[in-house]
Amino acid sequence: MGIKIYNTLTRQKEDFVPIDDDEVKFYACGPTVYNFIHIGNGRTFMMADVMRRYLEYSGYKVKFVMNVTDIDDKIINQAIKDKMEFSDVSQMYTEAYFEDIAKLGLRMPDAAPRVTEHLDAIINLIQTLILKGFAYESKGSVYYNVEKFSGYGKLSGKNTDDLVSGARVEVDETKRNPLDFVLWKAAKPGEPSWDSLWGKGRPGWHIECSAMCMTHLGDQIDIHVGGADLVFPHHENEIAQSEGATGHQFVKYWMHCGFLNVNDEKMSKSTGNFWLLRDVLKRFRPEVVRLFFLQKHYASPLNFSEDLLRDAENAHKRIEGIFNKVQQALELKDNLGSVGRDAYHADVEEFNKNLDRWEKEVVEAMNDDFNTAAAMGKIFEIFSGLNKIASTKKLNDFTLYVLKRARDLILEWNEFLGILHLSRPEGLSKKYEQLIDLLIEIRMEVRKKKDFAMSDKIRDRLTEIGILLEDGPDGTTWKLK
Ligand code: AMP
Ligand code: ZN
Repeated sequence: MGIKIYNTLTRQKEDFVPIDDDEVKFYACGPTVYNFIHIGNGRTFMMADVMRRYLEYSGYKVKFVMNVTDIDDKIINQAIKDKMEFSDVSQMYTEAYFEDIAKLGLRMPDAAPRVTEHLDAIINLIQTLILKGFAYESKGSVYYNVEKFSGYGKLSGKNTDDLVSGARVEVDETKRNPLDFVLWKAAKPGEPSWDSLWGKGRPGWHIECSAMCMTHLGDQIDIHVGGADLVFPHHENEIAQSEGATGHQFVKYWMHCGFLNVNDEKMSKSTGNFWLLRDVLKRFRPEVVRLFFLQKHYASPLNFSEDLLRDAENAHKRIEGIFNKVQQALELKDNLGSVGRDAYHADVEEFNKNLDRWEKEVVEAMNDDFNTAAAMGKIFEIFSGLNKIASTKKLNDFTLYVLKRARDLILEWNEFLGILHLSRPEGLSKKYEQLIDLLIEIRMEVRKKKDFAMSDKIRDRLTEIGILLEDGPDGTTWKLK
């Protein structure tokens, strides 16, 4: 059985068949960088990373793109509040975001496009929409004419008549229709703006994802992920924009992550009921937070509280303890070559038989719309079984074989689950260390010349290969991820 995905568009679980055999094209909506990300954002980002890794584990080559929204009302407002340039605010929180997700064990996307670096693509896409009759200019702004796109509402299941009757009376008279949404916002005094065919202005939120997705992955992609709050209007509008411009289907599988809630209410910056991911990670190990997320299916809502994290911490302590016991048993020279039956022989035989079943079941669970909750259930059963049989006393060859088999399976699955922290091989050679120091020096030089794009590139590339740079008052240090 191959992978099945619940597709928000068709409201069905479907067999996953990529458009192109060579590469899965995968886009996730990234953060708006006006503040540090909260642990709710972290859940959605992490689950996208788990999906990406599982696809790779299953043999697919994946191109994973996650944008950074680096111009937006919220960023402008934050910059005014902090008396800073908007670009310094977004730069600072972009760096913080990459640090946070790296700490949670997420891999860098293959591309992390920023809106301010894609103005040409955005303007071209808007121009195409105007030429094709899907958009119109009005007082220096450009709007999408929702009436013109017959498929509007197909993702969210909303009906345009209901939407119109439900829409609040619009004060904005620049729009023809209350449902029309902005593609290009005419510049307001004092706000950052860029030149365009319609005068100075800046892009609307929805158009950026269509443009960046199409720039980096092409007109048709396999998977598009975001939190459940993005189904409408963000993703509905992305479909209208991209399909209006190209005339064909934009995304094959739309996937949406459930909310991380506090007392059954969505965690969000606006209500103030949030925990920053970096604060959580000061108190809990990344593997604990990962385990907490993985115990629930990505699409289900998940309640967050400190007590629930503590429960995850206890569960983690237990499995880590068992894992270490198994490692120890396998490493003890004493055990090797010992013969005969040991006290647990019958248990070991049964465990080995169960392992055949669990091995299949974990993969089946993950294939079933990335059901990490079911997969974790099986993995906990494996740990319970291991706990019984892993003793560091003399074990016979068969027991050692079974322990090794279970350990290797867990390590294999850890590639996409990331629930066990494995110590990295020691000893980068002196030359490697000197090379990293040289890169840090070059980065300092480019920062002095205000080439932040290059500085970021050096930092991001190093993060990608597992070397984390940390900027502090006394300069930049590095450590292995
Ligand atoms: P934002 O920076 O608000 O655009 O959010 C970035 C990503 O986090 C989007 O995919 C959101 O849907 C997602 N998100 C926001 N709040 C939550 C939450 N409480 N639980 C899960 N995902 C969330
Ligand atoms: Zn988006």
